[in-house]
Amino acid sequence: MQRQPTIEWQTNGICNYDCSYCIQSKKFRQGHPSDEEIEKFLAFFARLPRIWEIKMSGGEPFAFKGFMDKIIPGLAKLPHHISILTNLSAPLSILDKLVTLVGDKLSVVSVSLHLEYVEAPEFIDKVKQLRQWLRPETSLVINSVLVPNTLENLLAIRGLVEGSSLKYFPQVMKTKHGVFPYTESDKALVVQLTGKNPSAKEANLAPSYRGLVCWSGVEYFVLDQKGHAWACRTAKRFQQGYLGNVLADTFELKSLPMPCQYDICPCTVPANRGMIEGIKINHEN
Ligand code: SF4
Ligand code: SF4
Repeated sequence: MQRQPTIEWQTNGICNYDCSYCIQSKKFRQGHPSDEEIEKFLAFFARLPRIWEIKMSGGEPFAFKGFMDKIIPGLAKLPHHISILTNLSAPLSILDKLVTLVGDKLSVVSVSLHLEYVEAPEFIDKVKQLRQWLRPETSLVINSVLVPNTLENLLAIRGLVEGSSLKYFPQVMKTKHGVFPYTESDKALVVQLTGKNPSAKEANLAPSYRGLVCWSGVEYFVLDQKGHAWACRTAKRFQQGYLGNVLADTFELKSLPMPCQYDICPCTVPANRGMIEGIKINHEN
């Protein structure tokens, strides 16, 4: 599989939920770009050579009014592919508008199931409706954080999801410093939910790819709501791999891939876009 150049853009910090297991602290779940800054982001994307995938997340993107008012109409005019990570709390009328505006560009829609805020059957019904509106080529994936003490319930929910011909994507729960230390009995349930040796397409186990050549910073980067760009999420956490600021015109990509130097790769996007050499790859999340 060819590498798919990809930007993970945190369009805004604000979120309409406050999940107990959220890895973004409340301090960082705030703020959004101004109209003027959105125009600068769009101008930056317009200048990019080649076609990139712009995967947007927050906070919660739809919780920011400018997301549907400015960002999506702006991206509709650009050639890039669009992906979205959302808690799917936006009303169906808004999701319908999204598909009308950029349905032909949507690559991956990742919808996160947060059982502290929604009931699984209603959530699945909403996802089924969205699936009907999307092109067959658009991937639609239900993310599910494997929250301790809820795993038996999640097994039943996985059955409901797969029984609706939808894709269930389990993710181990992360903490600030790595993966949550599950109890022995929960570990067995985690394996039931993820499978024994899942690929990055099948589950997110937040593995280590230390030593493998990675194209992050070259054909993949993360971009925050203030315009700061970093080679990858882990690099950002360690305040390394800074690529400059796209709003201040100081952004510059690295020219060469480098061996990964980290013990955790918390997100499957780089793996599933072909950025990490020598692992099983797939472009579905
Ligand atoms: S929806 Fe996502 S960003 Fe918002 S509080 Fe929950 S986990 Fe955090
Ligand atoms: S393998 Fe993951 S953690 Fe390592 S450099 Fe690449 S994106 Fe970052």
